[in-house]
Amino acid sequence: MNSDPRNDAATAPRIIPREQHSISRKNISKAALRVLYRLHESGYSAFLVGGAVRDLLLGGHPKDFDVATNATPDEVKKLFRNCRLIGRRFRLAHVVFGPEIIEVATFRGLGEEGAEGGDRHIVDGRIVRDNIWGSIEEDAVRRDFRVNALYYDIADFSVRDYVGGMQDLADRSMRLIGDPELRYREDPVRMLRAARLAAKLNFRIDPAAAAPFENLGYLLAEAPSARLYDESLKMFLSGHGLKSFRMLEACGLLKFLFPATARALQRGDQALRSLVEQGLANTDARVKEDKSVTPAFLFAVLLWGEVRDQALGWIARGIEPTEAWQRAAVRVVGEQCQRVAIPRRFTLTMEEIWALQPRFEQVQRKRVFRLMAHPRFRAAFDFLLLRAPESAAMAQLGAWWQHAQALPQEMLATALGGGPLPPSPDDKPLTPERPPVRRRRRVRRPKGGKAES
Ligand code: ATP
Ligand code: MG
Repeated sequence: MNSDPRNDAATAPRIIPREQHSISRKNISKAALRVLYRLHESGYSAFLVGGAVRDLLLGGHPKDFDVATNATPDEVKKLFRNCRLIGRRFRLAHVVFGPEIIEVATFRGLGEEGAEGGDRHIVDGRIVRDNIWGSIEEDAVRRDFRVNALYYDIADFSVRDYVGGMQDLADRSMRLIGDPELRYREDPVRMLRAARLAAKLNFRIDPAAAAPFENLGYLLAEAPSARLYDESLKMFLSGHGLKSFRMLEACGLLKFLFPATARALQRGDQALRSLVEQGLANTDARVKEDKSVTPAFLFAVLLWGEVRDQALGWIARGIEPTEAWQRAAVRVVGEQCQRVAIPRRFTLTMEEIWALQPRFEQVQRKRVFRLMAHPRFRAAFDFLLLRAPESAAMAQLGAWWQHAQALPQEMLATALGGGPLPPSPDDKPLTPERPPVRRRRRVRRPKGGKAES
């Protein structure tokens, strides 16, 4: 690590006294304050650190509060009854207050691998374990971005800046601490964090931090797929999904995380782009309204283009439609899960959402009611609405189902029994015998009701 410029990076901090910054204890959770005070009163140093300090300085409301201290995990455990120690790769203490967890991390040092009294393990430049305790100065420079290395000191309510984070907050810039290439090799997920945080905060990525993406993006393939799953949820289900997606694409990182999505979008299908962007925008809107969101719907949106194209390819080669869709889903999900470990319960739902799509084109009485009673009907219908830009017929099909659901059951039953449905809200007559399906897509419709089995 001797060539690492961080070894001489952190010296005396810039100290910003209470009256010169905007962090107020009113905006810090009670639980976090209790942890900070208890550590301080017991003679340890105690700081709020990381995203919470960054977000508070930007006027935001952090969801989680992380604490850094010179107390070791065992010492922290002795102070709090409601504390458990977690993590092998990165050992830390969780202090639990009902639904809130305060993460307490001991300052990490920059010691060499195998250094005495520590536990740091590096494989091919990657840090796979980091449990060497150190000083606050060392702790600051092992963090990823300068804006993430600000410390709020509970002893005097000042903010300590060891690496220039305040400057970057003012510049609205994500700058890495130390040599970007080295830092990404240590942990490739930092590339995704750059894109995610820039999107969330409305920052730009410093050119030096963005430059290695092209050559080092492939390293993401080596990151644990469970971690990439967590990071994907943070990117797409935290209310900044659409911006994160655009940022990932602009950075050239999408293809390393979602190769099938990048491939399908590159084929230049505007309807697919619209589906993905609208799906993400709807998800963002739901998050803002505090409604539930499911990873299954999100990943169904991201992978749809590739599943559809593969299924249509199989059908064109004479494979029976139900089989073709299933085969496409299994392949695309299988490939994606090598990168991002989507749990099985969600991949099953994704496959159902896709499999139900051709069934919306069958609007005979019995089938309509059977589809409406399907446990995934709602998700599959929302998905159908996203497909409206595919064609006028698809938009009409969505409108047909919307209208059908709004009707009282008996009225719908009568209408489907023979006569036309009452006029839809936009006054276009909708006739069940001649459903608004695209003729050239007929091949996708499972024959003999097989899709229902
Ligand atoms: P968010 O708003 O998403 O919570 P965050 O910056 O707080 O953003 P966390 O994952 O909660 O992200 O991490 C807390 C802090 O830990 C970061 O601010 C940073 O200082 C440090 N950190 C997190 N991940 C890394 C990493 N991969 N490498 C170095 N430091 C990291
Ligand atoms: Mg955080």
